[in-house]
Amino acid sequence: MSDILNEPLAFVGTTDLAGILRGKAFPTSEWASRLVQGVGWTPTNVQITCFEVLAESPYGALGDLILVPDAETRFQLPAKGNRPALDFSLGDIGGLEGAPWELCTRSILKRALAELDAVAGLILYGAFEHEFKLTNFAARDGDAYSFRGFRTGQDMAETLIAMMRQAGVRPDTFMKEYGPTQYEVTNAPATGVRIADDAAILRMLTSEAAEMHGLRASFAPILDPTNVGNGVHVHLSFRDKAGAPATWNAKDEHGLSDAARHFIGGILAHLDQIIAILAPSDVSYLRLTPHRWSAAYNNLGYRDREAAVRICPVTGDSDAEMARRFNFEVRACDAAASPHLALAAIIFAGVEGIRGKIEPPAVTQDDVSLWSSERLTKAGLTRLPQNLGSALEVFEASETTSRWFGPEFKSVYCAHKRGEMACLDGMDDNAKCARYGEAY
Ligand code: GLU
Ligand code: MG
Repeated sequence: MSDILNEPLAFVGTTDLAGILRGKAFPTSEWASRLVQGVGWTPTNVQITCFEVLAESPYGALGDLILVPDAETRFQLPAKGNRPALDFSLGDIGGLEGAPWELCTRSILKRALAELDAVAGLILYGAFEHEFKLTNFAARDGDAYSFRGFRTGQDMAETLIAMMRQAGVRPDTFMKEYGPTQYEVTNAPATGVRIADDAAILRMLTSEAAEMHGLRASFAPILDPTNVGNGVHVHLSFRDKAGAPATWNAKDEHGLSDAARHFIGGILAHLDQIIAILAPSDVSYLRLTPHRWSAAYNNLGYRDREAAVRICPVTGDSDAEMARRFNFEVRACDAAASPHLALAAIIFAGVEGIRGKIEPPAVTQDDVSLWSSERLTKAGLTRLPQNLGSALEVFEASETTSRWFGPEFKSVYCAHKRGEMACLDGMDDNAKCARYGEAY
């Protein structure tokens, strides 16, 4: 036991426009009063890019906000080695009078979920599947999916699983992924805001667990321009208000209920307009290229890992079991995005699909990158924007996204991302990947 005086701190965090978990700490003994008064927050914080440089901010040095912890997210991060325990929570940013702030990612997600409820009466279930690389050991041939590769990460993984349990994030699987020093961690589904909370907490815990074992985890979208990227696949399904599964329809060719099919139709019809939110870094667009098992087109794949949305296989010995497990995944996301913001964008687009009964393009099980432009157009498929600059232009020009996010959010978001891009001037792809590799 140390005889140096200490008083425990509690940390409250938010995922911001840079997709980074930021926050403040206060004495744990003051948790009850902080639950009401929050901690002070500065509007211009939202323009801190992942490279620390401040992007142009309409707020300057002005204004005051509060970040208020949500007791539902609170858990104790256990002490390990020389790292102290921590009382952790996520929170919402609001004005001093308590109204949600337009740029608070978690409040935006709550608004999107309320729309899903109002328009379709559906409860969203989901989980973010995460890939990451351990960057401080050398890649070895023979490691992909291997026992040996798994064993290298096992200590770290077991610490991670134990911490996930403490945090209320239910573990699913852990594996050595295909890419050099790449691993994947998945958790079981949660509902509503908790889907994105789990993703934010899981990223934080993965980095913690890695550091506890002398490793460094990087969730950057891609670390080597010649290899595969780190994807984030957002698995989603629905239940109705009575708790009955609402994604599966045994009579549909691919098993999709009307609501699920239209929701996917909405995502794919708007994917080019929201890709700047789902894949928001400069190097995200190196990953979103054909033959990297990510997504380059707005296609719907049936058990196809090169589709923007993939209908996932499920097994079960009854229709009821199939209905309960059936889900689809949005594969065009990465961890440079705030999970709250990415999920909000997916839901806004999906709800638009349900509202307008938008049909998705016909399912592909084919290498669509080999198709002619005529064939793509005929199938309702488009190549997604191929760099962050074009993705932002499409987002900015879309009246639909203005309706979802509001004009203030849009102009601040675009200024943020352009500020981030300005930090990369003159760098080649390798240098950019290295820079993002440090930031995420
Ligand atoms: N690494 C791929 C990506 O960037 C995904 C590979 C897979 O798990 O299917 O999304
Ligand atoms: Mg994977």
